[in-house]
Amino acid sequence: MKTIGHFIGGQHVTGPGLRHAAVYNPSTGSASAQLDMADRRFVDEAIAKAAKAQQAWGSASHAHRVAVMYKFRELLIANTDALAEIIGQENGKTIQDAKGELARALEAVEFATNAPAMSKGEFSRNVGGGIDVYSMRVPLGVVACIAPFNFPVMVPLMMSTMAMAVGNAVILKPSEKVPSAALALGDLWKQAGLPDGIWNVVNGDKEVVDALLEHPDIAAVCFVGSTSVGEYIYHKGTAHNKRVGAYTGGKNHMIVMPDADLEAAASGFVTAGYGSASQRCMALSVLVAVGDETAERLKTLLKPLIQALKVGPYNDSQADFGAVISAQSKAAIENAIAAGVQDGAQLVVDGRQAPCAGDAAGFYVGASLLDHVRPDMPFYQEEVFGPARALMRVNSLDEALQLTNSHQYGNGAVIYTRSGASANRFVSEVDAGGIGVNVPVPVPVGYHNFGGLRRSRFGEAHLFGPDALRFYTKLKTVSQRWPEQASATPTSLAFPGN
Ligand code: NAD
Repeated sequence: MKTIGHFIGGQHVTGPGLRHAAVYNPSTGSASAQLDMADRRFVDEAIAKAAKAQQAWGSASHAHRVAVMYKFRELLIANTDALAEIIGQENGKTIQDAKGELARALEAVEFATNAPAMSKGEFSRNVGGGIDVYSMRVPLGVVACIAPFNFPVMVPLMMSTMAMAVGNAVILKPSEKVPSAALALGDLWKQAGLPDGIWNVVNGDKEVVDALLEHPDIAAVCFVGSTSVGEYIYHKGTAHNKRVGAYTGGKNHMIVMPDADLEAAASGFVTAGYGSASQRCMALSVLVAVGDETAERLKTLLKPLIQALKVGPYNDSQADFGAVISAQSKAAIENAIAAGVQDGAQLVVDGRQAPCAGDAAGFYVGASLLDHVRPDMPFYQEEVFGPARALMRVNSLDEALQLTNSHQYGNGAVIYTRSGASANRFVSEVDAGGIGVNVPVPVPVGYHNFGGLRRSRFGEAHLFGPDALRFYTKLKTVSQRWPEQASATPTSLAFPGN
């Protein structure tokens, strides 16, 4: 079986070879490779190479760095088919969905070409006594990005592209479940002209993460993944005086008012709720119908749509979504459904019984919908990272807001309504990072900030958008006077006034 290594200093390298983990093809359920797990010493060596390379890259011209970004964008487009295949093989999502991921990844690269304009400083002439004041944004040095399995290309690029565009070097630790896409990106960055040592991929698990969090030469850490791990990384990283942005789990509510276009709402819920086998942090998880009549009408519309969803291998063009990431994940989703039913929820569609076009050993779970889910059920309280969704009923917009805002997660929230008053109230009062009005997936375009609220995010920055530039740079402010411009001032120890 092939062994997957690392990408350090512009080279594919084998690692220490002390520990390995199996990498699976979720569509078949079989192991496709073994992954070399880096150890602390290996991480230290990678950071040292990155730190050395960053010195020249950090002082390269804006024009030079931007040219690399433009070239990389072209290569990403030219390699769409190959990258989609790699994503499908290790993640299980369909090729069509993987191509959608790649299209959104382009936004991160396109936005990073704005780095020169966005990192311009401020200038004030003659603030007093002939002194000019100006500010500048400069790179941090070496930064770490720790990525989840669900977007093997898009999330790593959203985390890292602006970091490099402003002059940092990156150590990326991909999810050990999908290590190959990041290595393929290494080849493309090299072809684009990125100097060796600026984009590094170190594969592994907690040992690598802890080494990154403790290393004095890592200036900032960007994490995307589950809440328990994100909270740990935030606390440990900040305890080591690093900037940390951790973007974590979600339970995204869709409120449907009685006046909404119910067909559009049902269709939006199915698309955003079950796409990618629901393994998206911004997937809709909970449909909150305002009024029993709205709930019943939605249920009638949803049932045939959900039953018609086809599950299959990543390369089946007829499949609506593919396998989930692992056997453990499949078991967790099926157990969550069983527990929900045990607690009193009613199965409208049971995906555990759904026919599947793929290999029987693949990690397939069909689409499920549970009605009469209540706030006290773990099925509602926890993120179910797979295609099992909840239908809940409330009596008013007040109750819908109260329910949504009481949940531990605040990644995204959506309302479907024809009423401007209801929509305005929802937008003002809902406590979520991404808000949709008749839009089912409120992930903004790459030049807007994105990040959740409450336990969906730790730290003040945002994953992408203008905040990414601020996160990956430090601000220096200069007060400057040239002797020939300054009037002679007598020596005084008093605090200067105007
Ligand atoms: P995960 O937390 O299991 O893994 C994420 C990363 O953390 C991986 O690189 C993994 O190797 C590492 N890791 C795992 N356990 C660790 C530990 N104990 N100590 C240190 N590092 C550890 O997450 P996942 O299952 O890969 O991804 C799914 C999660 O990511 C979901 O909760 C989803 O909502 C979330 N997510 C959030 C966003 C967002 O923008 N908020 C985007 C995508 C995914």
